[in-house]
Amino acid sequence: MNHAIPADRLISSAALARFHPGCAAMDACRCSSRCAGSQAGPDELDHVPRLHPGSDLAAYCHALHLQQRATWPLAAAGYRALDSTEVRSCELNGLEIRLQLNPARLASSTATADSAAVRARPCFLCIGNLPAGQQALAYGDRYLILVNPYPVAPEHFTVPAVDHVPQRIGDSIADLLSLCRDLAPRYTVLYNGPQCGASVPEHQHFQAVPAGYLPLDRIFSHERDRRGMPWGERRGVRYTGLEHLPCPCVALEAETAAPLQESLRHLLEHLKNLVPGPGEPMVNIIGRYQQGWRLLVIPRSRHRPSSYLDADGNGILLSPGTADVSGLCVVPRWEDFHRLQRAHLQRVFEEVCLPAASLRLLRDRLGAPA
Ligand SMILES: [Zn+2]
Repeated sequence: MNHAIPADRLISSAALARFHPGCAAMDACRCSSRCAGSQAGPDELDHVPRLHPGSDLAAYCHALHLQQRATWPLAAAGYRALDSTEVRSCELNGLEIRLQLNPARLASSTATADSAAVRARPCFLCIGNLPAGQQALAYGDRYLILVNPYPVAPEHFTVPAVDHVPQRIGDSIADLLSLCRDLAPRYTVLYNGPQCGASVPEHQHFQAVPAGYLPLDRIFSHERDRRGMPWGERRGVRYTGLEHLPCPCVALEAETAAPLQESLRHLLEHLKNLVPGPGEPMVNIIGRYQQGWRLLVIPRSRHRPSSYLDADGNGILLSPGTADVSGLCVVPRWEDFHRLQRAHLQRVFEEVCLPAASLRLLRDRLGAPA
Protein backbone atom coordinates (compact mmCIF):
# COMPACT_ATOMS: atom_id res chain seq x y z
CA MET A 1 0.00 0.00 0.00
CA ASN A 2 1.27 3.46 -0.83
CA HIS A 3 1.24 5.48 2.38
CA ALA A 4 2.53 8.72 0.91
CA ILE A 5 0.29 11.67 1.74
CA PRO A 6 -0.73 13.60 -1.37
CA ALA A 7 0.90 17.01 -1.08
CA ASP A 8 -2.40 18.85 -1.48
CA ARG A 9 -3.88 17.03 1.53
CA LEU A 10 -1.25 18.06 4.01
CA ILE A 11 -1.24 21.37 5.85
CA SER A 12 2.43 22.19 6.20
CA SER A 13 4.05 23.61 9.31
CA ALA A 14 4.75 26.79 7.32
CA ALA A 15 1.06 27.19 6.49
CA LEU A 16 0.05 26.58 10.12
CA ALA A 17 2.63 29.10 11.31
CA ARG A 18 0.91 31.89 9.35
CA PHE A 19 -2.06 31.83 11.72
CA HIS A 20 -1.95 34.49 14.35
CA PRO A 21 -0.83 33.15 17.76
CA GLY A 22 -3.38 33.42 20.53
CA CYS A 23 -6.28 34.92 18.63
CA ALA A 24 -8.66 32.02 18.99
CA ALA A 25 -8.01 31.69 22.70
CA MET A 26 -8.84 35.33 23.28
CA ASP A 27 -11.99 35.79 21.31
CA ALA A 28 -12.95 32.29 20.21
CA CYS A 29 -12.75 33.38 16.58
CA ARG A 30 -12.09 30.89 13.84
CA CYS A 31 -8.51 31.59 12.86
CA SER A 32 -8.91 30.24 9.39
CA SER A 33 -11.29 32.88 8.19
CA ARG A 34 -12.17 35.65 10.61
CA CYS A 35 -9.16 36.70 12.65
CA ALA A 36 -8.13 40.25 11.91
CA GLY A 37 -4.65 39.51 13.21
CA SER A 38 -4.08 36.52 10.99
CA GLN A 39 -1.29 36.71 8.46
CA ALA A 40 -2.89 33.85 6.62
CA GLY A 41 -4.99 34.54 3.59
CA PRO A 42 -8.75 34.56 4.07
CA ASP A 43 -10.24 31.12 4.31
CA GLU A 44 -6.83 29.59 3.76
CA LEU A 45 -7.86 26.33 5.33
CA ASP A 46 -10.82 26.16 3.03
CA HIS A 47 -8.44 25.60 0.14
CA VAL A 48 -7.10 22.40 1.66
CA PRO A 49 -8.95 19.37 0.33
CA ARG A 50 -10.71 17.58 3.18
CA LEU A 51 -10.36 13.92 3.94
CA HIS A 52 -13.88 12.63 3.76
CA PRO A 53 -15.24 9.17 4.49
CA GLY A 54 -13.86 6.81 1.91
CA SER A 55 -10.36 8.30 2.07
CA ASP A 56 -7.76 5.96 3.43
CA LEU A 57 -7.52 8.06 6.54
CA ALA A 58 -5.73 5.49 8.70
CA ALA A 59 -2.97 5.10 6.10
CA TYR A 60 -2.57 8.89 5.83
CA CYS A 61 -2.35 9.15 9.61
CA HIS A 62 0.30 6.47 9.76
CA ALA A 63 2.23 8.29 7.02
CA LEU A 64 1.90 11.58 8.91
CA HIS A 65 3.25 9.89 12.04
CA LEU A 66 6.30 8.58 10.16
CA GLN A 67 6.84 11.90 8.41
CA GLN A 68 6.67 13.94 11.62
CA ARG A 69 9.02 11.55 13.40
CA ALA A 70 11.48 11.95 10.55
CA THR A 71 11.30 15.73 10.15
CA TRP A 72 10.17 17.26 13.46
CA PRO A 73 12.77 17.05 16.26
CA LEU A 74 10.15 17.47 19.04
CA ALA A 75 8.15 14.47 17.81
CA ALA A 76 11.29 12.44 17.12
CA ALA A 77 12.47 13.00 20.71
CA GLY A 78 9.03 12.24 22.15
CA TYR A 79 8.64 8.88 20.39
CA ARG A 80 12.25 7.94 21.00
CA ALA A 81 11.77 8.57 24.73
CA LEU A 82 8.59 6.49 24.76
CA ASP A 83 10.37 3.61 23.00
CA SER A 84 12.84 3.31 25.84
CA THR A 85 10.74 4.24 28.84
CA GLU A 86 10.20 2.05 31.89
CA VAL A 87 6.96 0.07 32.12
CA ARG A 88 5.72 -2.34 34.76
CA SER A 89 2.43 -4.14 35.22
CA CYS A 90 0.07 -5.51 37.83
CA GLU A 91 -3.41 -6.96 37.62
CA LEU A 92 -6.63 -5.55 39.09
CA ASN A 93 -9.88 -7.52 38.85
CA GLY A 94 -8.93 -9.09 35.54
CA LEU A 95 -7.53 -5.93 33.95
CA GLU A 96 -3.82 -5.54 33.34
CA ILE A 97 -2.68 -2.19 34.69
CA ARG A 98 0.41 -1.03 32.87
CA LEU A 99 2.34 1.73 34.59
CA GLN A 100 4.24 3.90 32.11
CA LEU A 101 6.95 6.26 33.34
CA ASN A 102 6.51 9.31 31.11
CA PRO A 103 8.13 12.57 32.32
CA ALA A 104 7.00 14.40 29.17
CA ARG A 105 3.39 14.17 30.37
CA LEU A 106 4.07 16.32 33.44
CA ALA A 107 2.38 19.43 32.01
CA SER A 108 -0.67 17.53 30.87
CA SER A 109 -1.03 15.61 34.16
CA THR A 110 -0.94 18.81 36.18
CA ALA A 111 -3.12 20.88 33.82
CA THR A 112 -5.92 22.65 35.60
CA ALA A 113 -9.56 22.26 34.57
CA ASP A 114 -10.50 25.31 36.63
CA SER A 115 -12.46 27.63 34.36
CA ALA A 116 -10.79 30.91 35.43
CA ALA A 117 -7.31 29.46 34.91
CA VAL A 118 -8.38 27.98 31.59
CA ARG A 119 -9.60 31.38 30.35
CA ALA A 120 -6.32 33.02 31.32
CA ARG A 121 -3.98 30.74 29.37
CA PRO A 122 -3.38 30.50 25.62
CA CYS A 123 -5.09 27.52 24.04
CA PHE A 124 -2.46 25.28 22.54
CA LEU A 125 -4.94 23.43 20.33
CA CYS A 126 -5.88 26.56 18.41
CA ILE A 127 -4.27 26.69 15.00
CA GLY A 128 -2.36 29.86 15.74
CA ASN A 129 -0.65 28.32 18.76
CA LEU A 130 0.52 25.01 17.34
CA PRO A 131 4.26 24.47 17.78
CA ALA A 132 6.72 25.11 14.96
CA GLY A 133 7.25 21.94 12.97
CA GLN A 134 3.70 20.63 13.44
CA GLN A 135 1.89 19.47 10.31
CA ALA A 136 -1.77 18.55 10.03
CA LEU A 137 -4.30 16.60 8.05
CA ALA A 138 -7.66 18.24 7.57
CA TYR A 139 -10.44 15.82 8.49
CA GLY A 140 -13.83 16.80 7.16
CA ASP A 141 -14.73 20.46 7.61
CA ARG A 142 -14.34 20.62 11.36
CA TYR A 143 -11.19 18.82 12.50
CA LEU A 144 -7.43 18.66 12.15
CA ILE A 145 -5.39 15.53 12.80
CA LEU A 146 -2.07 16.19 14.55
CA VAL A 147 0.75 13.96 15.71
CA ASN A 148 1.05 14.34 19.49
CA PRO A 149 4.72 15.07 20.25
CA TYR A 150 4.27 13.95 23.88
CA PRO A 151 2.93 10.44 23.21
CA VAL A 152 1.61 7.78 25.56
CA ALA A 153 1.35 5.24 22.71
CA PRO A 154 3.62 4.25 19.78
CA GLU A 155 1.36 6.34 17.53
CA HIS A 156 -0.64 9.06 19.26
CA PHE A 157 -2.80 11.61 17.49
CA THR A 158 -4.73 14.61 18.75
CA VAL A 159 -7.80 15.50 16.70
CA PRO A 160 -8.83 19.07 17.61
CA ALA A 161 -11.78 20.95 16.17
CA VAL A 162 -10.75 23.78 13.86
CA ASP A 163 -12.93 26.10 15.95
CA HIS A 164 -12.20 26.99 19.56
CA VAL A 165 -15.29 25.39 21.11
CA PRO A 166 -15.49 23.69 24.52
CA GLN A 167 -14.99 19.97 24.96
CA ARG A 168 -18.51 18.55 24.97
CA ILE A 169 -19.47 15.08 23.86
CA GLY A 170 -23.14 15.97 23.44
CA ASP A 171 -22.23 18.23 20.49
CA SER A 172 -19.88 15.77 18.84
CA ILE A 173 -21.27 12.23 19.07
CA ALA A 174 -21.67 12.03 15.28
CA ASP A 175 -18.05 13.20 14.87
CA LEU A 176 -16.87 10.52 17.29
CA LEU A 177 -18.64 7.79 15.33
CA SER A 178 -17.33 9.04 11.97
CA LEU A 179 -13.81 9.21 13.27
CA CYS A 180 -13.98 5.67 14.69
CA ARG A 181 -15.15 4.36 11.33
CA ASP A 182 -12.67 6.34 9.26
CA LEU A 183 -9.67 5.40 11.43
CA ALA A 184 -10.55 1.69 11.45
CA PRO A 185 -9.08 -0.82 11.64
CA ARG A 186 -5.78 0.67 12.66
CA TYR A 187 -6.77 3.07 15.46
CA THR A 188 -9.03 3.41 18.47
CA VAL A 189 -10.51 6.81 19.34
CA LEU A 190 -10.51 8.27 22.86
CA TYR A 191 -12.66 10.96 24.42
CA ASN A 192 -11.69 12.63 27.69
CA GLY A 193 -14.46 14.52 29.44
CA PRO A 194 -13.57 18.13 30.35
CA GLN A 195 -13.43 17.25 34.04
CA CYS A 196 -11.81 13.83 33.74
CA GLY A 197 -8.57 13.87 31.86
CA ALA A 198 -8.79 16.48 29.09
CA SER A 199 -5.76 18.74 29.46
CA VAL A 200 -7.39 21.32 27.17
CA PRO A 201 -11.07 21.25 28.23
CA GLU A 202 -11.68 24.57 26.51
CA HIS A 203 -11.09 23.15 23.02
CA GLN A 204 -13.00 20.22 21.57
CA HIS A 205 -10.73 17.31 20.69
CA PHE A 206 -10.40 13.56 20.45
CA GLN A 207 -7.34 11.38 20.54
CA ALA A 208 -6.40 8.22 18.64
CA VAL A 209 -3.97 5.43 19.47
CA PRO A 210 -3.30 2.02 17.88
CA ALA A 211 -6.26 -0.35 18.24
CA GLY A 212 -5.72 -2.83 21.07
CA TYR A 213 -2.91 -0.81 22.65
CA LEU A 214 -4.91 0.04 25.77
CA PRO A 215 -5.44 -3.03 28.00
CA LEU A 216 -9.23 -2.57 28.21
CA ASP A 217 -9.50 -2.11 24.45
CA ARG A 218 -7.50 -5.30 23.94
CA ILE A 219 -9.50 -7.56 26.32
CA PHE A 220 -12.96 -6.14 25.66
CA SER A 221 -14.43 -8.93 23.49
CA HIS A 222 -13.09 -11.62 25.78
CA GLU A 223 -14.40 -9.90 28.92
CA ARG A 224 -17.79 -9.17 27.37
CA ASP A 225 -18.25 -12.84 26.46
CA ARG A 226 -16.86 -14.18 29.73
CA ARG A 227 -18.06 -11.82 32.45
CA GLY A 228 -20.16 -9.12 30.77
CA MET A 229 -23.76 -8.63 31.95
CA PRO A 230 -26.09 -8.30 28.93
CA TRP A 231 -28.45 -5.40 29.64
CA GLY A 232 -30.50 -5.94 26.51
CA GLU A 233 -30.90 -4.45 23.06
CA ARG A 234 -32.75 -1.39 21.76
CA ARG A 235 -33.09 -0.51 18.06
CA GLY A 236 -30.11 -2.69 17.19
CA VAL A 237 -27.90 -1.27 19.96
CA ARG A 238 -26.57 -3.95 22.28
CA TYR A 239 -25.90 -2.89 25.90
CA THR A 240 -23.43 -4.80 28.07
CA GLY A 241 -22.39 -3.93 31.62
CA LEU A 242 -18.80 -4.68 32.60
CA GLU A 243 -19.36 -4.20 36.30
CA HIS A 244 -16.55 -6.43 37.52
CA LEU A 245 -13.71 -4.35 36.12
CA PRO A 246 -11.77 -1.81 38.22
CA CYS A 247 -13.35 0.77 35.85
CA PRO A 248 -17.01 -0.38 35.78
CA CYS A 249 -18.29 0.55 32.32
CA VAL A 250 -21.03 0.08 29.74
CA ALA A 251 -20.48 -1.15 26.20
CA LEU A 252 -22.77 0.01 23.41
CA GLU A 253 -22.44 -1.95 20.17
CA ALA A 254 -24.31 -1.28 16.93
CA GLU A 255 -24.02 -1.61 13.19
CA THR A 256 -25.84 1.61 12.35
CA ALA A 257 -24.88 5.05 13.56
CA ALA A 258 -28.21 6.83 14.17
CA PRO A 259 -29.60 4.56 16.93
CA LEU A 260 -26.18 4.36 18.55
CA GLN A 261 -25.98 8.13 18.62
CA GLU A 262 -29.38 8.28 20.28
CA SER A 263 -28.45 5.53 22.78
CA LEU A 264 -25.32 7.34 23.89
CA ARG A 265 -27.26 10.58 24.32
CA HIS A 266 -29.91 8.76 26.32
CA LEU A 267 -27.30 7.07 28.50
CA LEU A 268 -25.54 10.38 29.19
CA GLU A 269 -28.83 12.00 30.21
CA HIS A 270 -29.45 9.30 32.79
CA LEU A 271 -25.88 9.39 33.94
CA LYS A 272 -26.21 13.08 34.65
CA ASN A 273 -28.68 12.26 37.41
CA LEU A 274 -26.24 9.84 39.00
CA VAL A 275 -23.09 11.95 38.88
CA PRO A 276 -23.56 15.37 40.46
CA GLY A 277 -21.78 18.37 39.00
CA PRO A 278 -22.10 21.04 36.36
CA GLY A 279 -21.96 20.40 32.63
CA GLU A 280 -21.93 17.00 31.03
CA PRO A 281 -21.65 13.89 33.19
CA MET A 282 -18.06 12.86 33.80
CA VAL A 283 -17.12 10.17 31.30
CA ASN A 284 -14.25 8.67 29.42
CA ILE A 285 -15.07 6.92 26.15
CA ILE A 286 -13.16 4.46 23.99
CA GLY A 287 -14.58 4.06 20.48
CA ARG A 288 -13.68 1.50 17.86
CA TYR A 289 -15.14 0.23 14.60
CA GLN A 290 -15.02 -3.37 13.38
CA GLN A 291 -17.93 -4.16 11.06
CA GLY A 292 -19.88 -1.99 13.50
CA TRP A 293 -19.25 0.44 16.34
CA ARG A 294 -18.30 -0.35 19.87
CA LEU A 295 -18.29 2.43 22.46
CA LEU A 296 -17.03 1.76 25.96
CA VAL A 297 -18.44 4.41 28.26
CA ILE A 298 -16.56 4.68 31.54
CA PRO A 299 -18.48 6.91 33.99
CA ARG A 300 -16.38 8.82 36.48
CA SER A 301 -17.15 10.01 39.97
CA ARG A 302 -14.26 12.43 40.38
CA HIS A 303 -11.48 14.09 38.44
CA ARG A 304 -8.44 13.24 40.53
CA PRO A 305 -7.90 10.82 43.43
CA SER A 306 -7.44 12.00 47.02
CA SER A 307 -3.75 11.02 46.81
CA TYR A 308 -3.13 13.59 44.03
CA LEU A 309 -0.60 16.33 44.77
CA ASP A 310 -1.58 18.82 47.45
CA ALA A 311 -0.70 22.52 47.37
CA ASP A 312 2.79 21.74 48.71
CA GLY A 313 3.47 19.16 46.01
CA ASN A 314 3.06 16.19 48.33
CA GLY A 315 1.21 13.18 47.04
CA ILE A 316 1.25 11.08 43.89
CA LEU A 317 1.11 12.62 40.45
CA LEU A 318 -1.42 10.41 38.70
CA SER A 319 -4.26 12.25 36.99
CA PRO A 320 -6.49 9.64 35.34
CA GLY A 321 -7.88 10.15 31.86
CA THR A 322 -9.25 7.66 29.35
CA ALA A 323 -5.92 5.86 28.82
CA ASP A 324 -5.35 5.51 32.57
CA VAL A 325 -8.76 4.12 33.51
CA SER A 326 -8.39 1.75 30.53
CA GLY A 327 -5.30 0.26 32.13
CA LEU A 328 -2.44 2.44 30.83
CA CYS A 329 -1.51 4.55 33.85
CA VAL A 330 0.81 7.35 32.81
CA VAL A 331 3.10 8.42 35.64
CA PRO A 332 5.28 11.47 34.96
CA ARG A 333 7.52 11.29 38.06
CA TRP A 334 10.13 8.61 38.71
CA GLU A 335 9.46 8.54 42.48
CA ASP A 336 5.74 7.92 41.96
CA PHE A 337 6.41 5.28 39.32
CA HIS A 338 8.48 3.30 41.79
CA ARG A 339 6.27 3.65 44.86
CA LEU A 340 2.88 3.03 43.28
CA GLN A 341 1.67 -0.38 44.42
CA ARG A 342 -1.35 -2.47 43.59
CA ALA A 343 -3.29 -1.45 46.72
CA HIS A 344 -2.81 2.21 45.93
CA LEU A 345 -3.94 1.75 42.33
CA GLN A 346 -7.01 -0.09 43.57
CA ARG A 347 -7.89 2.92 45.72
CA VAL A 348 -7.36 5.31 42.82
CA PHE A 349 -9.76 3.34 40.60
CA GLU A 350 -12.33 3.08 43.42
CA GLU A 351 -12.24 6.82 43.93
CA VAL A 352 -12.33 8.08 40.36
CA CYS A 353 -14.62 5.51 38.73
CA LEU A 354 -18.33 5.06 39.31
CA PRO A 355 -18.96 2.08 41.64
CA ALA A 356 -20.54 -1.06 40.23
CA ALA A 357 -23.67 -0.46 42.36
CA SER A 358 -24.21 2.90 40.64
CA LEU A 359 -23.74 1.27 37.27
CA ARG A 360 -26.53 -1.19 38.14
CA LEU A 361 -28.69 1.76 39.13
CA LEU A 362 -27.98 3.26 35.73
CA ARG A 363 -29.08 0.03 34.10
CA ASP A 364 -32.35 0.11 36.07
CA ARG A 365 -33.01 3.74 35.17
CA LEU A 366 -32.35 3.08 31.51
CA GLY A 367 -35.30 0.76 31.76
CA ALA A 368 -33.44 -2.45 30.84
CA PRO A 369 -33.56 -2.24 27.03
CA ALA A 370 -35.51 -5.31 25.93
ZN1 LIG B 1 -8.45 26.59 21.19
